[in-house]
Amino acid sequence: MKKNIARRLARLRTQLRRNRLDALLVSNEANVRYLSGFTGDSSALLITTQHALFITDFRYVEQAQLECPGYRILRRPRSMVAEIARAARRAGIATLGVEAQCLTLDSAQALREELAQPIRIVHTAGLVETLRAVKDPQEVAAINACIDIAQRCIQHARRFLVPGIQERDVAAEMEYFVRQHGADGMAFPTIVAFGPRGSLPHARAGEHRMKPKDPVLIDWGVRKDGYVCDLTRVFFHLKISPRFERIYRTALDAQRRAIRRIRPGVTAGAVDAAARNTIARAGWGPKFGHSLGHGIGLEVHEAPTIGHAADRVLKRGMLFTVEPGIYLPGLGGVRIEDDVLVTNQGVKVLSNSPKRLKDIILGG
Ligand code: ZN
Ligand code: ZN
Repeated sequence: MKKNIARRLARLRTQLRRNRLDALLVSNEANVRYLSGFTGDSSALLITTQHALFITDFRYVEQAQLECPGYRILRRPRSMVAEIARAARRAGIATLGVEAQCLTLDSAQALREELAQPIRIVHTAGLVETLRAVKDPQEVAAINACIDIAQRCIQHARRFLVPGIQERDVAAEMEYFVRQHGADGMAFPTIVAFGPRGSLPHARAGEHRMKPKDPVLIDWGVRKDGYVCDLTRVFFHLKISPRFERIYRTALDAQRRAIRRIRPGVTAGAVDAAARNTIARAGWGPKFGHSLGHGIGLEVHEAPTIGHAADRVLKRGMLFTVEPGIYLPGLGGVRIEDDVLVTNQGVKVLSNSPKRLKDIILGG
């Protein structure tokens, strides 16, 4: 078994004992990958305090044998649920944890019928996700590789930001670029929003054409080797209006103050507050309606959430976005998003795409 996988399983088993579970059924695809290294789908893990079982069908047996050394690979002849029940009985499990956020009602019902007594099903939430919130060095390296491609991509995309171009053409150029440079693809559908569309925090790239003086908001990420990054920059064509200059400086200041608060032992809510208070003092408090950030890793949104009610204490190895935004309906929006790592001393900002005011004026 690979060292990092063995370490993750050891941490999970500590959680199992703490929660008085004999085993955990892992069916969330990202969790399966995290605990086994498996890159396919339609598979599940049964992790007991002693054994690591990998349950899949004919299509994935060979791949699982290659990717998951140390796991016992079980090929299911019939339904997944029947095979899980069989394996659980053979392992002598009395208390089986399931991932309540992932298992469908159908599967849970079928599992209950197959298992019958005396195996008890216990709903769990976030057992593996909590482990995933703290990244190991290989994961940080994988995310850094994504950031590297993403940052070269935005430099490339800048050249296309001229009046007349459609949002989706910019997004297409970006996707072509990242694939050419070793990424598996974008981490999520790229947001390219011209002008007023920038005030829609999740606008998709559409058919809108860029007009002179339009602010441009691009929120993009790269996926490579299972991991992702998530960045946002805004640009202004030729010049920036005084109002948007104030907004941009406020967002930048909010982000800087939040990042300065980050270190082990601080709550996520305190980091969020540093940004939120800055924006509120400038008079745009109600225009910042989302959380300051979210963990990234195997998924684009994972633990920890950096929000105003988040009482989770930050730990070394947590890796998340810091993305304050100010949105003015009808005019546009500004969001600045970077990816940061909590270190022993404080924080390391992993992304460094230029964001000073003079860096984001196009065609200047
Ligand atoms: Zn983003
Ligand atoms: Zn984000």
